[in-house]
Amino acid sequence: MAVRSVSKLVEQGFEAVEKEILECKDCQLHETVTNKVISKGSRTPSVVFVGEAPGKNEDETGVPFCGRAGKNLDGMIEYMGLSGDEYAVINTIKCRPPKNRNPLKSEIKACKPFLEAQIQLLNPKVIILLGNTAEKAFCDGDKLEWGVPKAVDGKYTLLKIYHPAALIYQRSRIEEQNTLIDNNRHLWELE
Ligand code: SF4
Repeated sequence: MAVRSVSKLVEQGFEAVEKEILECKDCQLHETVTNKVISKGSRTPSVVFVGEAPGKNEDETGVPFCGRAGKNLDGMIEYMGLSGDEYAVINTIKCRPPKNRNPLKSEIKACKPFLEAQIQLLNPKVIILLGNTAEKAFCDGDKLEWGVPKAVDGKYTLLKIYHPAALIYQRSRIEEQNTLIDNNRHLWELE
C-alpha cells in the first residue's frame, strides 16, 4: 500500500483530510470501527492535545474524549485556563482498536500521515502528548521526560503529561499533573 502524501493532504485542507479519513481503509481497524474519530475544538488553536486511540464512547459517538476521561481532560483544560478557541483535540489513530487494545505499530504508521497533516493544518505553538502511546506515535521512539518541554525545529513545543484516563484511578496523580501544568504555563500563556 502506498504511503499517503502529507503535503498533498495539507494542500487539500481540513475538509478533504476529514473526507479521506472517513473513507480510509489503510489498516485493518476500518473493519471493526463504528465511527471514525477525527478531532474537536478550534481550527486555529495555540495548543493541540494528542490522545492515544479512540475508546468505546468515542467509537460510539465519533467525538474524541467523551466519557470519564473526557471530563478529566475538560478539567485539565479549565485548570490550564484555555478558552474554546485556543485548543483542539485529536488522536494518534482515528479508529478504535478492538477491546481497547494498544494500537499496533503498523496501525500507527498507517494513520500517521493524517496525524501529521492535522498538525500542519492546525499549526499550534504547543503540542501536548497525553501519555506514552501518544509519545510513541508522535516521536518515533524518542523519549520525552514527563512535563519537560522540548522545542522542535522552531515549529512548536512538545510537552508530555499524563493521559486523563490515568487520573481516573490514580487521584493522587491529579496534583502531580497540576504541577506539570503549572511549571509550563509560560508555553501557552503568551502575551
Ligand atoms: S486507523 Fe487510520 S489508517 Fe487505519 S483505517 Fe482508521 S483512519 Fe485509516
